[in-house]
Amino acid sequence: MSSPDTPEPQNTSEPQNTPEALSPEAIASIRVNLDEVSTRAATAAEASGRTSADVKVLLATKTQPAAKIRVALEHGFTLIGENKVQELVGKADDLADLDHEAHLIGPLQKNKVNHTLRHAHCIQSVDNLELATKINNRLEALDQTVDFFVQVNTSREDSKSGIAPEETEALIAALQAHTRMRLRGLMTIGLPGRTPDEIRPSYADLRELSEKLLSSGAMSPDATELSMGMSNDFELAIAEGATMVRVGSSVFGARYYS
Ligand SMILES: *Cc1c(COP(=O)(O)O)cnc(C)c1O
Repeated sequence: MSSPDTPEPQNTSEPQNTPEALSPEAIASIRVNLDEVSTRAATAAEASGRTSADVKVLLATKTQPAAKIRVALEHGFTLIGENKVQELVGKADDLADLDHEAHLIGPLQKNKVNHTLRHAHCIQSVDNLELATKINNRLEALDQTVDFFVQVNTSREDSKSGIAPEETEALIAALQAHTRMRLRGLMTIGLPGRTPDEIRPSYADLRELSEKLLSSGAMSPDATELSMGMSNDFELAIAEGATMVRVGSSVFGARYYS
């Protein structure tokens, strides 16, 4: 991440290849929000006995145009996450000249694996063996690898995505045969729309599960990442050990679904 006092490179010669150019005010506001999120994440990391380098900020960019994402990447951020394969694919060309890592953070249908592997560096939503096998087979054919997280449903409620905590160990064991896939750790969404206090236990659950799987050797010692926390609660998630928070609306503003 760029330090706040480094002047940003001004891109005056290249026209933006997007339908609507952003106003200078919109650009300035994204930059201010990015700096604020960085500062808050760093403060929370230090409060949890870590440093800012221990906690990455991934920008959740669903529904946001490539022009806004470009502002963030030019400001020194490098991690973006899309929920839909269609958006991941649709924005890839516009951002191809900027150094970054794209993650898929939403559910992946088996028929979209090929498109995903063309553009995603990491898939955070692996939650079943059938999907993982499809991914690994495709990677073999492409002679390629991919990073991934196992998505765990720690919400203690019925929810569509994520494997149950008690089934996670067996899934990870089965995935060891998937040699093209590199496990980085565990991801959870928690309880969308709840207050931070209601959400916090689901983050604690993910950290405890990770500690258990690491100490028993069920999970590789490299797979230490915990992807958890969003705009409303990322400081709590960091307090519970998040190594990656996924922040959207506090940087880009409200999302408009068309
Ligand atoms: C949208 C989204 C986020 C970010 O949510 P905000 O509240 O906008 O910060 C994080 N993770 C996932 C999986 C998301 O879909």
